[in-house]
Amino acid sequence: MSISGSPRAGRLFDAHMHLYDPVLLAALDRDRQKLPLPDIAIQVVNGTRPDDWSRIATLVSPYGTRLFKAYGVHPWRVNDLPEDWENQLRSRLREDACSVGEIGLDNWIEPRDERLQMDIFERQLQIAHDLGLPPTIHCVRAWGLLMDALHRGPDLSDGFLAHGFGGSVEILHQLADLGAYFSFSAYPADPGRKKMRDAVRACPVDRLLVETDAPDMVPPESACRFPLRDSEGKRLHHPAELATAYALIAEWRGEDPQTLADQVEANFYRLFGSKTNPGA
Ligand SMILES: [Zn+2]
Repeated sequence: MSISGSPRAGRLFDAHMHLYDPVLLAALDRDRQKLPLPDIAIQVVNGTRPDDWSRIATLVSPYGTRLFKAYGVHPWRVNDLPEDWENQLRSRLREDACSVGEIGLDNWIEPRDERLQMDIFERQLQIAHDLGLPPTIHCVRAWGLLMDALHRGPDLSDGFLAHGFGGSVEILHQLADLGAYFSFSAYPADPGRKKMRDAVRACPVDRLLVETDAPDMVPPESACRFPLRDSEGKRLHHPAELATAYALIAEWRGEDPQTLADQVEANFYRLFGSKTNPGA
């Protein structure tokens, strides 16, 4: 792997991550000697349940990066929601948000209630449509169900994000036809994840975004430039690995890193709206 530095200082955009996570924040705090981190302009911080939403609302970046906020109910968090979750979510989103996320469908998690997942997901697609915000979608082993929900749901042709995309190239094209953008991290660097690298290559250049999903989806150790562990030694995805993802994605696609970074920046603003663009 060749890493030729970051393409544009201060111009890297993390389309999906979880900076409020207490385990991540504690690990980063221990890692302070490595600050300041390179080159990140904006991080989109995604909540997964009401407890996260209140953490995100008051969050300040330890890096001095700009944070943009997304609130949603993740498919792993659909049980035990408070009665008024939908009202709480709508008011968080109206305060300050660039996306409804992280929401989605997951047929890998056990145990699961697929009908409840679908109900909560579809209600959030409607909220996204009502508020004019792009949804950020997690999907694992539920591509058929996702396509069904998108076909019968509200019009999302202004854009939505299929984050950490792990589906086939065929599904990628079907989602792109409906308005999808796709974000990828350094995670597919594992030699066994060829299908994910194929999707990175197949992604239309005007729909491509970059993410970390920190602290989750840790790339293979050999690809990591910013190793990070929690207090029990478990590996975490460091937010600074965003620069690694940019470099690897350019390499996999055979594109000039600088040109790709410019394109990703344009895509980021097109999806998340002018409100995230200080120059707009
Ligand atoms: Zn996530």
